[in-house]
Amino acid sequence: MTKISRRKFIGKCVFYNASALLGAGWLISCAKDSSGATMDSEWDYLPIQNENPAIALWREKCEECGDCVEACAEKQKVFGTYHANAVNHVCIHCGTCIMACEEGALTEKYHWKDVLNAIDDPSTIVIASISPSVRVGIGDYFGMEPGSFVLENMVGACRAVGFDYVLDTNFSADLTIMEEAGELQKRIQEKVDIPQFTSCCPAWVKYVEIYYPLLLPYLSTAKSPVSMQGAMVKSYFAQKKGLNPRNIVHVAITPCAAKKYEITRDDLAMDGIQGTDIVITTNELARMLKRRNVNLTAQKGNFDSCMGAASGAGIIFGNTGGVTRAALRTAYYNITGANPPANLLDLQQVQGLNGLKEAQVTIGDTTLNVAVCYEMRNAQRLLEQVMNGTCKYHFIEVMACKGGCVGGVGQPAGSSKIQKRISALNTADMEATTRYCHENPEIAAIYTDFLGEVGGPEAKKYLHTVYNDKSNLLLK
Ligand code: SF4
Ligand code: SF4
Ligand code: SF4
Repeated sequence: MTKISRRKFIGKCVFYNASALLGAGWLISCAKDSSGATMDSEWDYLPIQNENPAIALWREKCEECGDCVEACAEKQKVFGTYHANAVNHVCIHCGTCIMACEEGALTEKYHWKDVLNAIDDPSTIVIASISPSVRVGIGDYFGMEPGSFVLENMVGACRAVGFDYVLDTNFSADLTIMEEAGELQKRIQEKVDIPQFTSCCPAWVKYVEIYYPLLLPYLSTAKSPVSMQGAMVKSYFAQKKGLNPRNIVHVAITPCAAKKYEITRDDLAMDGIQGTDIVITTNELARMLKRRNVNLTAQKGNFDSCMGAASGAGIIFGNTGGVTRAALRTAYYNITGANPPANLLDLQQVQGLNGLKEAQVTIGDTTLNVAVCYEMRNAQRLLEQVMNGTCKYHFIEVMACKGGCVGGVGQPAGSSKIQKRISALNTADMEATTRYCHENPEIAAIYTDFLGEVGGPEAKKYLHTVYNDKSNLLLK
């Protein structure tokens, strides 16, 4: 594969250090002043600013232990790559620092009270969309075993707290795969911009925008499931149910802090309307339910129709390797006209809690190399391979959080719970009515009634996005 010239980008980095050895080390040198001193060593805590849409620093609780600084620098390769000061803090909003802080001095930004205010406002229609990982996290707050798969109780509790409609973001995970698999097939046929990187993790997308803008063409243009869900709620769903999109408050319930940042991206709005208005985490949903005395275990309910059905492929989106497995299922079907064999359905090589995994699969006459990783320290190795032309992969999945979204910072804390959540989503996939997004009847309906063909003009308009070079954030 062709080596990509860095000259253009290096030119912007006046502190470029040719001796940098690893990954974004060539940018880490930006953190040095003219005397060579590392400016960021002055910081014993992360100077998170009030404007950060996802992360809050409670300075009065901070013991200045430096654990958050280390986590950000080591795991996500962000802190130390730029000149941090009280007004300049670069952040991809992953929340890894929150997990490192034992003092509770870092949290996700809370928005659950905004949701209750919207619910209490009779002029609004408040719609919840729930991400796959929430259903294997929320039970922890109500005395259930970690990793319990809680679906009907969770939906019923959302209705009891006052949401007018409750939808499944797994539906849009299916939609994402329809588009991403189609995009992969096209890239392979046309032999352009290989490998295709996944784009469903906004922390990862922002990392590429900041540190590897030359590789933006390799990111799938498909929006994340939460962004697709927002676009469809305010258009297709509103149309089907006779709702005025301007009266809708769409709330995404996710395991993720970075989604709070993602919904602020201008490039995701449609005709000036934001698809998702508020993002809350699993932790915040639990707070909301408790504030309104809703006992999760006593409630039961089902998702609303039109955007409430999902395949097993959508369910495993929460797991590391899940997006890859889901995409390959539909790519296989698209290429061969048949569903894949069992070994490709499960693709054990890309499952589990290794930060970097790989597999080779054969689909018809095509052999594909795929890689799956989490945390930017692992992604960096792959990004460097693409930069220097030695990357052998066709498809690369990257998530910021350990284990994927099931390990997101918005979930109940405890890394020992991650594998249990992964297993629970895998079991739900195996027990699903269908394990293929292309067999989800609501997905078929949305393409017939609204979107037209996969990758067609309407699908492009609603489901795809553009990315921007954000490397200037490092130079302030
Ligand atoms: S980990 Fe927490 S207590 Fe330690 S420096 Fe960071 S914010 Fe402060
Ligand atoms: S959210 Fe992620 S990128 Fe931002 S400061 Fe924390 S660890 Fe660093
Ligand atoms: S891996 Fe998932 S939970 Fe973590 S930052 Fe990315 S999208 Fe959010």
